[in-house]
Amino acid sequence: MSEDNIDKKKGFWGTTLTRLKSVLAKTKEQVQDPEELAQGAETAAAGAESQTAAAVQPEPIKAAAATSVATAHKPVDEEYIEALEERLIKADLGLPTVEPLVEALRQEARGKNWTGKDVDDFLKKRFHDLLGKTANALSFKEGQVNIYMVVGVNGVGKTTSIGKLAARLKSQGKRVLLAAGDTFRAAAESQLEIWSERAGVDIVRLPDGSDPGAVVFQAVKKARDEKYDVLLIDTAGRLHNKVNLMDELKKIRGVIEKHAGDLPMESLLVLDASTGQNGLQQAKVFQEATGLTGVILTKLDGTAKGGVVFAISRELNIPVKLMGIGEKLDDLRDFDPNLFVEALF
Ligand code: GDP
Ligand code: MG
Repeated sequence: MSEDNIDKKKGFWGTTLTRLKSVLAKTKEQVQDPEELAQGAETAAAGAESQTAAAVQPEPIKAAAATSVATAHKPVDEEYIEALEERLIKADLGLPTVEPLVEALRQEARGKNWTGKDVDDFLKKRFHDLLGKTANALSFKEGQVNIYMVVGVNGVGKTTSIGKLAARLKSQGKRVLLAAGDTFRAAAESQLEIWSERAGVDIVRLPDGSDPGAVVFQAVKKARDEKYDVLLIDTAGRLHNKVNLMDELKKIRGVIEKHAGDLPMESLLVLDASTGQNGLQQAKVFQEATGLTGVILTKLDGTAKGGVVFAISRELNIPVKLMGIGEKLDDLRDFDPNLFVEALF
């Protein structure tokens, strides 16, 4: 059966899964090419403006699965479990997630002659449990202005995700307004403007360098007066330094609380899936400044990693709500833990 037929047969979700799986195959090739892998890690670090360099070079999760599949019929011994533990850590899952997982595996497997296949099944179930607990959809209240403030470091995909989300909400018949709260980069606003045109939604923007608080104030007023269903707020991901950025986000948050404190609001952190454990650090910093209600995990079409999601679920209890799987208008999906785990294996 050709891939096209598979897609048609499985429909919408099948297509997404097939795409994620083809990416996994690509990443597997990269594992065999250390130079390319190093390059990828470098790009990811640059995109994330990493304040702390990843201690361990990330390695795609698929590598762990690939090895266990290869030894699917061999009995699992301590050496196998230790190698697995190391691979999971390198796949960005983080020590606090991996240690209890591997301990539970030891307990379960003891005296049972488990093979690699049993281990795979065990891990899949655990991953489902870890993510399923916190996964849920974007909240939306009918008849009110729903505010979604979108934050994250430079280049992770905030503006793009806003564009995609705007298009999706608009196609559901909602009236959507964008606020160009990233006034720091001259190009940032016109980029959001392009997205507003693409999605066919309205936008509030002020001249470059304006106070983002003023943009948000005007946008909130317009959204209320003209009864929009959704206000999507774009924010800067980089200022002169981190303290400045966090101060500015707190100010924006303050404007929203003062003028729209009664309205439903989500504060969404955009994370590049290839960021690694540094993503957890980012989540902590933004959590403190703006109080996060969800994560948008982007660029899953370009990496088989995203293991940091487990750490964020576990440590901060913040659900992943959406995932970006490309640069186009319709490349946004509700985060589906089942699909995500399937794609990892
Ligand atoms: P921002 O600085 O956080 O606003 O990031 P942008 O929205 O400007 O995006 C930075 C780059 O990432 C752009 O080139 C986007 O096209 C790209 N991008 C965003 N989301 C995705 C995604 O899900 N997949 C891929 N492949 N690229 C993405
Ligand atoms: Mg932007």
